[in-house]
Amino acid sequence: MNIHSKLPRVGTNIFTIMSGLATELKAINLGQGLPDFPMEPRLHELVTKAMRDGFNQYAPMPGWLPLREAIAEKIDYLYNTKINPGSEITITPGGTYAIYTAFTTILQPGDEVIVFEPSYDSYVPNIEVNGATAILVPLKVPGYGIDWEAVDKALSPRTKAILINSPHNPTGAVLSESDMLELQKRVAGTGIFIISDEVYEHLIFDGLAHQSVMRYPALLERSFVCFSFGKVYNCTGWKLGYCVAPAALSAEFRKIHQFNAFSCNTPVQVGLAGFLSDKEAYLSLSSMMQQKRDYFISLMKDTRFTLQESFGSYFICGTYERISDESDKELAIRLTKEYGVATIPVSAFYQDGTDNKVLRFCFAKKEETLELAVERLKKL
Ligand code: PMP
Ligand code: GLN
Repeated sequence: MNIHSKLPRVGTNIFTIMSGLATELKAINLGQGLPDFPMEPRLHELVTKAMRDGFNQYAPMPGWLPLREAIAEKIDYLYNTKINPGSEITITPGGTYAIYTAFTTILQPGDEVIVFEPSYDSYVPNIEVNGATAILVPLKVPGYGIDWEAVDKALSPRTKAILINSPHNPTGAVLSESDMLELQKRVAGTGIFIISDEVYEHLIFDGLAHQSVMRYPALLERSFVCFSFGKVYNCTGWKLGYCVAPAALSAEFRKIHQFNAFSCNTPVQVGLAGFLSDKEAYLSLSSMMQQKRDYFISLMKDTRFTLQESFGSYFICGTYERISDESDKELAIRLTKEYGVATIPVSAFYQDGTDNKVLRFCFAKKEETLELAVERLKKL
């Protein structure tokens, strides 16, 4: 049987390759973004209790209402924005699914979507599978800020959406208030949608405020804002997230969702609804992750890598001009095989494989894991 592939250029993604190699070679995995420390025991207990209490059947299609109410309360508290939990929040099986569903909701063949590179690897295939085209705009180097003049050049009558991601994977860059206002200027009076990937919402450092689309009514009215519980609560394997969008956009989003996953894991939703009623659940997250970033930076001073700045996410990038002139992929594989440390080559976040010789390190790890990994990296 022959399949006419919908994604002919796509192979196995880099996270699968590097985690596979790390497992096979028993390397320390600073590659794929997943914590190796235990998640919050209270959340674990609440979900276990929900299962024991019999919350084991299908949840409502848009999500468990008390969870959507808790999310709306959090949004009001953090961003001073009123969101209707009934019509504007949909619980999804993870952030990636929310982004895919948002694209599938709005895109028609021939549409264009502006995507900044380096970019998380699911965006472009999500766009292409819908018959649309990604218009790639490089982020500025160094710093990975948005080049707004380049955005002006990329805009066209076919532009259907702009994808933003802050805090940013893989670089840890964050958008500023002035970026959000630049974006607002460009979309005002157009039919352009925003898809905002905010899965690292609570993992932002150095006292910076997360510039959620939720703070900007003129952006929110045209946005699908996507989140991940897995990422912020250190339970990536639970695969639960949500999408916030105005009622009319959410209604169309739900038409796609109801014939795909239909609904999400019930006990996890029930447990999270209880967990989120305590604000500490999200207010404590950035300082815990910032400590890990700072510890990793201090350890890496004894290596010959040059770390770039990271203001959020699980990640920090580093260059290796003092170590080798290999391609980033070659070095990532050699590091795993010969030194027992897996990382992610940042060229995987460019459609044309642009190699600026940068590796991404995940610091969402126990201190002892970071210490052991850096002991090995020092030998380079
Ligand atoms: N967007 C970005 C930028 C991510 O790093 C991730 C993490 N995998 C996701 C979306 C999706 O998260 P989830 O595991 O909830 O699908
Ligand atoms: N978001 C994580 C990363 O960038 C994991 C992605 C995945 O496994 N698909 O590493």
